[in-house]
Amino acid sequence: MDKMGEASPVIPVYEPTLGREELENVVEAVKSSWISSKGKFIPEFEDAFAEYCGVKYGVTCSNGTAALHLALAALGIRKGDEVLVPTLTFVATANVVVYTGAKPVFVDSDHEYWCIDPERIREAVNKRVKAMIPVHLYGHPCDMGAVMKVAEDNGLFVVEDAAEAHGGEYKGWKVGGIGDVGCFSFYGNKILTTGEGGMCVTDNEELADKMRILRDHGMNPHKKYWHDIIGFNYRMTNIHAAIGVAQLKKIDTIIEKKRRIAEWYRKELREMEGLTQHPEMPWAKNVYWMYSILVEKDFSMGRDELIRKLRERGVDTRPFFHPIHELPMYRTGDRFPISEELASKGVNLPSSANLSQEDVSNIAEKLRHL
Ligand SMILES: *Cc1c(COP(=O)(O)O)cnc(C)c1O
Repeated sequence: MDKMGEASPVIPVYEPTLGREELENVVEAVKSSWISSKGKFIPEFEDAFAEYCGVKYGVTCSNGTAALHLALAALGIRKGDEVLVPTLTFVATANVVVYTGAKPVFVDSDHEYWCIDPERIREAVNKRVKAMIPVHLYGHPCDMGAVMKVAEDNGLFVVEDAAEAHGGEYKGWKVGGIGDVGCFSFYGNKILTTGEGGMCVTDNEELADKMRILRDHGMNPHKKYWHDIIGFNYRMTNIHAAIGVAQLKKIDTIIEKKRRIAEWYRKELREMEGLTQHPEMPWAKNVYWMYSILVEKDFSMGRDELIRKLRERGVDTRPFFHPIHELPMYRTGDRFPISEELASKGVNLPSSANLSQEDVSNIAEKLRHL
């Protein structure tokens, strides 16, 4: 029993996949005494992950939120600017816009694949809008072809929030490597983890240099303690990068496993009335960060009751994010009907890469007999 008096869930919604390799790298980092933000694992992780994303430069940082903030700051986003963000995302996507002094402008989702709707982006553009942050939600890529077209037509920067979609692909292109900057999180429940951590990837050398300076107090790289601009301390430690290097070697296996888990869920839940399954558009490779379902009106109970009953039966799940425009600090009175509907119906099922086929069968069995 936990402190809320509920039975502790047997199957958690997410667990990291850690092994001997992560441990060995951490031991090596500690033994080397390079435990702060210099050391060999940092450039190794940056180069290898950038290459994985199909771009030239990687800039590690302390978390995914810092990555997004660094990207916007390096692009020169500031007070008076507006940045388009989906309303259906984790709150950090909007918060980072406010950190720069700019204003987030919310955009509704596509009803079929849940990410930002490129048509709604086009409608939201005005002359104060300088950038947009498409989010590859729950592992499904945005329609990046359409997103990039709107950006080009209107001269907007594109910062991809790929915190939930390491290895996801749009028409064979890795997400994060398509826009001006791609931002990743390596939090404990993300597809790849370093405990806490983040990275910006880009093909633009000037932007990469700027992000490196901004993450290190704005210090001039050629002159110690000379600061040309106000920066931040957003550095990653060598210990975290050591874990990242080991994790990255497993990414293909992790993603293969996650796609197999999605297939198991899809087969198990196929016959169930009233559940819509996690989509995968023909142009997309979904990495299913969280295998998700929508609880439709014709299901035998509401979404919240389903979550409660599954928890009673030892299965931990999560409801979808609340659309950000409904949170107190962002409430404007504007409505975004598709995001609101998705948010009210969505559930993330347990999605760790270490789930077995038997685990998935058990979860499905419990869903069938709530
Ligand atoms: C996790 C996440 C972030 C923030 O990452 P942190 O490492 O927790 O700061 C940003 N955007 C999205 C969509 C996320 O899921």
